[in-house]
Amino acid sequence: MQRSEQLFERAQRSIPGGVNSPVRAFKAVGGTPRFIAKADGPYIYDVDGKRYIDYVQSWGPMVLGHNNSRIREAVIDAAASGLSFGAPTEAEVFMAEKVRELVPSMEMVRMVNSGTEATMSAIRLARGYTGKNKLVKFEGCYHGHADSLLVKAGSGALTLGVPSSPGVPDDVAKHTLTVEFNNLDSVKQIFAECGDDIACIIVEPVAGNMNCIPPVDGFLQGLRDICDEHGALLIFDEVMTGFRVSRGGAQERYAITPDLTCLGKVIGGGMPVGAFGGKKKILTHIAPTGPVYQAGTLSGNPIAMAAGLAALDQLAQPGLYDSIFANTKALVDGFQAIANENNIPFTTNHAGSMFGLFFTDVDKVVNYQQAINCNQAQFKQFYHGMLDEGVYLAPASYEAGFVSKLHDEAIVEATLDAARKVFANL
Ligand code: PMP
Repeated sequence: MQRSEQLFERAQRSIPGGVNSPVRAFKAVGGTPRFIAKADGPYIYDVDGKRYIDYVQSWGPMVLGHNNSRIREAVIDAAASGLSFGAPTEAEVFMAEKVRELVPSMEMVRMVNSGTEATMSAIRLARGYTGKNKLVKFEGCYHGHADSLLVKAGSGALTLGVPSSPGVPDDVAKHTLTVEFNNLDSVKQIFAECGDDIACIIVEPVAGNMNCIPPVDGFLQGLRDICDEHGALLIFDEVMTGFRVSRGGAQERYAITPDLTCLGKVIGGGMPVGAFGGKKKILTHIAPTGPVYQAGTLSGNPIAMAAGLAALDQLAQPGLYDSIFANTKALVDGFQAIANENNIPFTTNHAGSMFGLFFTDVDKVVNYQQAINCNQAQFKQFYHGMLDEGVYLAPASYEAGFVSKLHDEAIVEATLDAARKVFANL
């Protein structure tokens, strides 16, 4: 760990907290973040040469595993023709068509450079289109760090105890109404109070930023119905779930059609990419066809499009998702059995290839309160035990884990072998 320690110390002199995104700093679990030198398949390797089975997957993009050869080659090929043109390219047309094919509710799509940009732009579009100001989001859901969305947010904002960040003006935050995930009554109540001025509901259809919490039966359909009743738009933030909980995302898995969808992570194959899209009659309100402004110097970047297309093209492999989902289930079932053998209060959630591990005596975790009431001290001990055994989980208990195509049965078994040792010592 020597090299990571040296780099972390050096990094903290020039980078706030030594990292370019907060959760990477290991604040929630303590200790030194591992600086990563390379990644391949299901593994990452730190600068001290230690190998880890990786369940962070760059926070979601690597559904095909790290360093996928087709993506890598596509990037190298595209780079040979120039890095950015600031003018339309063929690859952007292919990408838009591919997104429409895989996520049919996205009749039109606009590319951006991150998930944050996708959600920020989708919300502006929802407000511009409906002429209403307020948005409804769920406690513990994270939609990137745009001002309007950084209210009772999950992920690093939760981990670091900054549910509403300083720097977000009250005048902005007051338009963000926060209700409880998986609780339709709380949504109905807020619509009863201010339904006339609600532009949209934005939701992570499977919450992945307060650990992993799937929607309970009827929740997403309920949101669809409430939006229809009140003339509000339903925005699925599928930055994490897109191409992951099913090829067509959560909307395919749960058969609900949102008005707008936000994508990120997998769609870039590891490059910085996001996208938002939806009904044509809404998307035509975006500049240059409409008055809602949205733009980007590097949006639709040719290297990023090449990587993303190479990723999306491979998602059609027969049986791909079935085997990833089976391995995810085997993994969480294995964890549960080991916890039970050791009499440790523990439960799991999973949806497709996303999973969550909870140190709690609650049977099924369905909301933010239950997620934050889990035993943090035990998680911390578990986390470092697994890390020592060569398993890299998200360094905070409020994050979903991810399984890739290359986390096969042997990798799952190796992970459970590590868990057996760690649980025995908790
Ligand atoms: N939405 C969701 C559901 C996310 O999980 C994230 C990032 N984890 C974002 C939006 C923001 O994406 P980015 O970090 O690319 O800005």
